[in-house]
Amino acid sequence: MITNIPEYEDFENVSKECLIQALELFFRIYCNYKEYDDENINEEVPLNEVWEHNKPTFRTSVILLHQGVETYMKSVIVRNSPYLLLEQKRSDWPSLPKSKDVDYSTMYTYAGENLLNTFCTVTNGKLNSEKIKFIEDIRQNRNKAIHGAGSMLNNPSTVILDILKAYTYFFGKDQWFNDMKKWNQSNPLFGYYNWDFESIQSYKFLDFIEVTIGVKQLNFFFNFDLNGRRYFCPTCFYEISSKGEQLKSKWAFLTPNKPSSKLLYCINCNFENEIKRVDCHIKDCMGNVMDVNGICLTCGKKTNENSI
Ligand SMILES: [Zn+2]
Ligand SMILES: [Zn+2]
Repeated sequence: MITNIPEYEDFENVSKECLIQALELFFRIYCNYKEYDDENINEEVPLNEVWEHNKPTFRTSVILLHQGVETYMKSVIVRNSPYLLLEQKRSDWPSLPKSKDVDYSTMYTYAGENLLNTFCTVTNGKLNSEKIKFIEDIRQNRNKAIHGAGSMLNNPSTVILDILKAYTYFFGKDQWFNDMKKWNQSNPLFGYYNWDFESIQSYKFLDFIEVTIGVKQLNFFFNFDLNGRRYFCPTCFYEISSKGEQLKSKWAFLTPNKPSSKLLYCINCNFENEIKRVDCHIKDCMGNVMDVNGICLTCGKKTNENSI
């Protein structure tokens, strides 16, 4: 008998973990850099130089991305039948009476081109050629990265885009961000300082993705349309202010994106807040979207209360 037959969820979870870790590697480099919050240092050492220094991490990320893609293909195959992944001749399978038990994980499983062929067979033509080419490119990029070649090691944006594409192709839009937040919140150390404050720290992740691939590209990986004007989210703003810090990131959008809208939706904390339309009186601020307490959500300052 073959024992310990895996479930497809086992593979799916590992696939997600690989992809999230592939992103986290870059995120940690970015966060370390941001800790040097000093204009002089940032001018003398641009972020590009820090990426350049971290090429070995790029390589690890490319390998994790490839691993995530292969494991996803395995999850789809296992959903059909875990036996389709076994490479041994069927005459060698320990299935006849009196044959010894063999653990599934100790048997050889397909990788590379055989895996792709099996994957395409079980998906039965449902995948378009663009997605299949993407999967094949990931495998070739990983081979190049291992040998130190390939232009994708020059700049993190290509790898980050590929990770987000893989996540979105396989699990749908928004999922990469939701799963990344879930992963952080499952940390046993999470929440000891302050649950709400720590929860909204995910805005740093959005900032990092924006810095590396730009908001236009980021838009492909969210269900919500990010093309509108951006505002401070009142929920995130007050939470950060309550700890004596100043929020600089704007991840809230009018919903719907119309001048008459009364609601602001934040893709970071998922909250919807009511807003008022009042012109901001702070010099040089053209804002006219206030929260209910009179904070201008364009400049972050409290405007003349009498005007509300
Ligand atoms: Zn928010
Ligand atoms: Zn203002």
